[in-house]
Amino acid sequence: MGDNAPIADPEIKYTQIFINNEFVKSVSGKTFPTNNPCTGEPIVQIQEGDKADVDKAVSAAKAAFKLGSPWRRMDASQRGRLLNKLADTIERDGRQLASLETLDNGKPFGYAFNFDLVFAIKVLRYYAGWADKIVGQTIPSDGDFFTYTRHEPIGVCGQIIPWNFPLLMMSWKIAPALACGNTLVLKPAEQTPLTALFVCALVKEVGFPPGVVNVVPGYGPTAGAAISNHMDVDKIAFTGSTEVGRLILEAAGKSNLKEVSLELGGKSPNIIFADADLADAVEWSHNALFANSGQACSAGSRTYVEESIYEEFVKRSVERAKTRKIGNPLDADTESGPQIDEEQFNKILELIKSGEEEGAKMHCGGKRFGDKGYFIESTVFSDVTDDMRIAREEIFGPVMQIIKFKDIDEVIPRANDTSYGLAAAVFTKDINKAITIANSVQAGSVFVNCYNSLSANTPFGGFKESGIGRELGSYGIEHYSEVKTVTIKIPQKNS
Ligand code: NAD
Repeated sequence: MGDNAPIADPEIKYTQIFINNEFVKSVSGKTFPTNNPCTGEPIVQIQEGDKADVDKAVSAAKAAFKLGSPWRRMDASQRGRLLNKLADTIERDGRQLASLETLDNGKPFGYAFNFDLVFAIKVLRYYAGWADKIVGQTIPSDGDFFTYTRHEPIGVCGQIIPWNFPLLMMSWKIAPALACGNTLVLKPAEQTPLTALFVCALVKEVGFPPGVVNVVPGYGPTAGAAISNHMDVDKIAFTGSTEVGRLILEAAGKSNLKEVSLELGGKSPNIIFADADLADAVEWSHNALFANSGQACSAGSRTYVEESIYEEFVKRSVERAKTRKIGNPLDADTESGPQIDEEQFNKILELIKSGEEEGAKMHCGGKRFGDKGYFIESTVFSDVTDDMRIAREEIFGPVMQIIKFKDIDEVIPRANDTSYGLAAAVFTKDINKAITIANSVQAGSVFVNCYNSLSANTPFGGFKESGIGRELGSYGIEHYSEVKTVTIKIPQKNS
């Protein structure tokens, strides 16, 4: 593996709050531990941001956004250049960053390096390209007037991200915000602050002006709530649970009506027709659920399988789940690491228990893996019915639900019978079935004969209670700019 080998004990240089391009201690003097999910033991103490620190960070972001500031005066092309440089330094330090991600989150190093890191770099480069291409219109308005629109940055953006893809979610948030010329205050999840703080050092190194990027680690109800309630935060972007998404929207409504974009949970249907390539569908469906130890908002967590292939599909899925390698995330052949923390670990085990109690058939897994940390065995349930908790609630763990269906007319309303609407998939060789499903399911992303095949230039987000707005692609830009209409009286209009 050479240069791409994981660093077992990566040096942790950055544990402080990042405001105005400086690492500083918390106002309260408090710290909190970030833990290694493989052991449950603390890795290091992090400065704990609270309302007072958020106030400082927002003031810095607001000052950096003032008219005439270096950031507001900077050429759009230069903003793009800075984003590209940030991508370059992240690539340069990729081994270190991916190793920190593995330590803090528990995900296998191969995934941290080849997926999270690579995708984060792509997102930064994609939006770097946008910086000088965000343009308005000239409009032939009625009368002797000339009208144009400007797409201006919104101002100070609050960004709150989860622990499942820490570095990647940071890139999804900061890249479009910075491409559009905003300043920001980002709060990483309390479970996984290490990579975000490392990136702060790179933000400074490549030359973003002070105050443009500020990162305040801390807990949700304190630091997170201070951001979402802040009167000087002009926009908030959040990824995490639907429950907290509601709190964010409420806080925006009760404070300054800041703009809100939300990327929340899911219970995504993955529909397998009898004519699908079975081996292919089994493998995609396995990864649709078990990737990232099941901790993905878009996980294919309701696997609907057509009656005639149901038994065979279950058999093969169980065989595949049993071969899934769980263990040390530093080992090259590990496919699943631990769950993020004790709370998630207990929640998943409790939902597994509910599945058994409600009559689903458990074929494998179901319990803790090993004797330390938060590992859970790969678990597969069949004979799952739509009303069971495991078919309705987001488990966010390595627990697969395989549900039987009869035909396309019956499966569509069942697939849509959920408050969520993040993703969906269909496996079939019949183009008509594929398009009918794609056009009928209420989901922000539909995959045909594949799953979770995301790209920096394709939008991602949810219908219904899975969110508001889209990230990535050109759609992602829309949530980070305000449209201003300027109408000018002119002596005489001519066509
Ligand atoms: P969460 O929603 O509580 O946490 C996500 C982020 O929000 C973290 O940074 C957290 O500190 C912050 N937060 C928490 N409370 C807040 C508040 N009152 N105000 C502002 N910010 C706040 O998610 P969790 O508790 O870590 O996980 C619980 C469940 O959320 C999971 O089981 C899963 O179902 C879901 N989840 C979804 C995603 C996703 O990608 N959509 C990611 C993580 C978790």
